[in-house]
Amino acid sequence: MSFIKENCGIAGVYNNKHSAEILYLSLFSLQHRGQESCGIVVCDGKTVNIKKGMGTVSEVFKDGTLSSLKGSFGIGHVRYSTTGSSSSKNIQPFFSEYSGKPYAIAHNGNIVNSHLLREKLEKRGSIFQTTLDTEILMHLITISKKIKFKDKLLDALSKLKGAFAFVILTPDEIIGVKDPWDFRPLCLGKIKNGYIVASESCAFDLTGARYIRELSPGEVVFINKDGIESVHLPQKKISRCIFEFIYFARPDSNIFGASVYNARKNLGEKLAEEFPYSGDIVVPIPDSGSIAALGFSQKRGIPFEMGIVRNHYIGRTFIQPFQISREVGVKVKLNPIRNVIKGKDIIVVEDSIVRGTTSRLRIKSLRDAGAKRIFMAVSCPPIKYPCFYGIDFPSRKELIAARYSLNHIVKEIGVDGLYYLSLDGMLSSIGLPEEEFCTACFTGKYVIKDSHFEGKEQFEL
Ligand code: SF4
Repeated sequence: MSFIKENCGIAGVYNNKHSAEILYLSLFSLQHRGQESCGIVVCDGKTVNIKKGMGTVSEVFKDGTLSSLKGSFGIGHVRYSTTGSSSSKNIQPFFSEYSGKPYAIAHNGNIVNSHLLREKLEKRGSIFQTTLDTEILMHLITISKKIKFKDKLLDALSKLKGAFAFVILTPDEIIGVKDPWDFRPLCLGKIKNGYIVASESCAFDLTGARYIRELSPGEVVFINKDGIESVHLPQKKISRCIFEFIYFARPDSNIFGASVYNARKNLGEKLAEEFPYSGDIVVPIPDSGSIAALGFSQKRGIPFEMGIVRNHYIGRTFIQPFQISREVGVKVKLNPIRNVIKGKDIIVVEDSIVRGTTSRLRIKSLRDAGAKRIFMAVSCPPIKYPCFYGIDFPSRKELIAARYSLNHIVKEIGVDGLYYLSLDGMLSSIGLPEEEFCTACFTGKYVIKDSHFEGKEQFEL
């Protein structure tokens, strides 16, 4: 399990009197995509009700707060900040009034030309309430010369470059938007007589909604009293984030039309085929390495053992009562089971290595618990480049694989052998066209080259 921060999760519901409750459950299912803040905006066609706050869904929507959110359609958001600081002014959905009518936007991804767009808008006199790249869309809509809102929106969207999955609330509809590069997932479902959209299909399961399909690249879906209407933005080179399958998305989700569980298990099987070492047991780093480890174990016929146990009760609520070392901090989260690993050669399956610092501490705790030899199998290639499309990877100088050779990393994290899944192996494991994936964090090949993204706090004073 890497300490990579997710991007965000979004959801929208149309035509259900329990919209707020459905959004609450959807956001709860998408909580893994962001825990800094969250919000719900619902509308009954006349009034708009909003509740937003810093913290997780269960912290913000404590007893009673949902019942005041009346409306038959709405949108919601869970946030991890990738553009704009983590502060109350930046909590989404972003809400504003235009021509006396309410509009709200929730966004997952990063708009890479946001710096240039905001500079131009500010020169024209636009005043921004937030430091979100999301707000730029609303300003672009208001300055568009088109007449109808739909045309203004399409005009505004055509100016954006980068990763953007949006759900938008207007006075009488919700709209789902997928960028034409297809960086981030967005699914469509049916719920009773209405519709639901969400970043991942796991959001549908709790609400009783039925998965219909993934939005296609560049699709803009208008959901209103007339049903569903789809419009498509001009085509671009498809570049889906492969990291959604490796780490971000929940294994019980379908994203981009493929099962995350199957993809993760296939990654483990492919890794087992390529892995040059052997061992007595296969041990996952829970939870994100577990399914790849299962695939690895089944492919190689080496027993799968939960040699490391995860404490599920810490998360954001773990408050250190006294100063503890980083080493103890790692053990609080993941603790080795001594009698499972003592005296054994173990193959540790990890989804990814970012800085390498937590891997080093985990390997040390496995050694302290008596492991004889430790080989590490990583279910993706070395991460060498930052992401500009909504994932908060550190800069190149902090990425261990960008700085050091394989031999050096082996020494640095203290393993007896280390192997990363090959790029081809990774691409062939997902079950979607290989040429339609973004692999920029592994290869440095960015599909949008003229990025001016300057870090998530680029718009802060
Ligand atoms: S650079 Fe990596 S994390 Fe970012 S969108 Fe591409 S594959 Fe995903």
